Amino acid sequence: MPENVLASSSTSPSTSPSTAPSAVSSAPPSRHASSDRVTRQTPVSTPVRQRAIDLGDTTITYRHRISPRARRLRFEVRPGNGLEVTTPPGVSVARIEAVMREKTRWITTMLVRYAQPPGSVVAAPLVTGTILPFAGGHLRLVLETPRTGTRTSAVMNEGELRLTIANDAPEVVRSALAAWYRRQGRRVFAERVAYWNTHYCFSFGRIAIRDQKSRWGSCSRQGNLNFNWRLLLAPTSVLDYIVIHELSHLKEGNHSPRFWALVAECCPSYREQRDWLRLHGPELHF
Ligand SMILES: [Zn+2]
Repeated sequence: MPENVLASSSTSPSTSPSTAPSAVSSAPPSRHASSDRVTRQTPVSTPVRQRAIDLGDTTITYRHRISPRARRLRFEVRPGNGLEVTTPPGVSVARIEAVMREKTRWITTMLVRYAQPPGSVVAAPLVTGTILPFAGGHLRLVLETPRTGTRTSAVMNEGELRLTIANDAPEVVRSALAAWYRRQGRRVFAERVAYWNTHYCFSFGRIAIRDQKSRWGSCSRQGNLNFNWRLLLAPTSVLDYIVIHELSHLKEGNHSPRFWALVAECCPSYREQRDWLRLHGPELHF
């Protein structure tokens, strides 16, 4: 069962509006612009109007999309993309804005959180002196150019990560770093899986470290465990929660109460870790 970034953000009780009127419900925010799902739901020719509303002490502009296929009011905030409201035809602006007033807090929180487009949530430039989170600790990045040749190397030593790289263009550094994190992930996740499995004693296949935008981990039918290297940027308690979550899937394939009870054996605070990921997951990159 995959732990999906998109799916997990979609059920977050902390980010959902508290109560929705009976005929109205809201779609949760999508955190990524991976919108094939979204575009499939929306006919190409739907009219879109730009509107504005005063909410609290700010004026918020939003796009109002009318879709014959929509059954209810749907609110979406995407990184860098602002607020979009989709309604069935015939819903008045007064009705939309009445619902928006009820959701003021949710809307303003989401707009602040997703003001930036994906890929720029962490704005720190990757230069010498940049502090990188790593497996619950921190590393100071040191960039060097090789004296000879173009070979890239990365050495971690006493809180420093020394990256020797011929081309220090941001994208080159970023991908060299990601490759390094991914290699480290093999060691870190193997160690954490072994640690928590002393409790569960499940048998599993191989452990693979993935570079994925929308999944933290997964457990295949064959019992192979996959983890996202970006978890190395998260607190250890969060990384451990995903390890425990995927280990628990070796026994329980779905997210049933039995599954969560199994997770809770090693991670009683799993709700807290899950909420942390929903909130901060999109920031786990450089
Ligand atoms: Zn799961």
